[in-house]
Amino acid sequence: MVVVELKPFNEILKTISPFKRVTVVGCEIGSGRCMQGGLKEAKEVAQFLENNGKEIVEVLTIGGTCLIEKVRKLEFKETDVIVSLACGAGTQVIAEETEIPVVTGVSTLFIGADCHKEWFYEYCIACGDCIISETAGICPIARCPKSLKNGPCGGAINGMCEVNNDTECVWFTIDRKLRSFGKTFKIENLSFRDFSKSNHPRRFENEL
Ligand code: SF4
Ligand code: SF4
Repeated sequence: MVVVELKPFNEILKTISPFKRVTVVGCEIGSGRCMQGGLKEAKEVAQFLENNGKEIVEVLTIGGTCLIEKVRKLEFKETDVIVSLACGAGTQVIAEETEIPVVTGVSTLFIGADCHKEWFYEYCIACGDCIISETAGICPIARCPKSLKNGPCGGAINGMCEVNNDTECVWFTIDRKLRSFGKTFKIENLSFRDFSKSNHPRRFENEL
């Protein structure tokens, strides 16, 4: 899931200061799952904006805001500005599909997982060349602060990461998991990281 963080309501209010009539759009996939930009939070933002002099035209979600065919069906009537709580991708889709100004009410943080209810952890940086079949299903590129693909840096202290000392070195985690399968990490199974696969902007054609 894409993890987002709701901006302070006052900041959203300031961003839309030139506008009067507002539509607030939430997204139930990433933003909603994070409890930062689903319908509930969209209603809270709308209430705050209304309390501060804005006219709320509509508050809505369409499930996944990055689904272009769904966004195309939206009709934003009588609206001066759209406040989107979708991730950066979803908000850009809305901005491309409407002539109405669009502002974001969230910051997009990372691709992650909600491991412990209120805690969300980064699990993937979308490197474009996934190697986790070789690393027990655990990504060192996203979860090692140095993005080391070829093993630990040697700085770990008692198994804890030298950069984030409240977190186990991901290479220790990988090693323990591999050993539980009766395996060990084999660097020769990995090629050098191909950074051309993460050049921006990327695109993907589904040839199926
Ligand atoms: S190896 Fe790349 S694609 Fe696979 S989980 Fe890690 S960052 Fe994501
Ligand atoms: S201690 Fe482990 S997780 Fe931390 S930077 Fe070094 S290799 Fe990466």
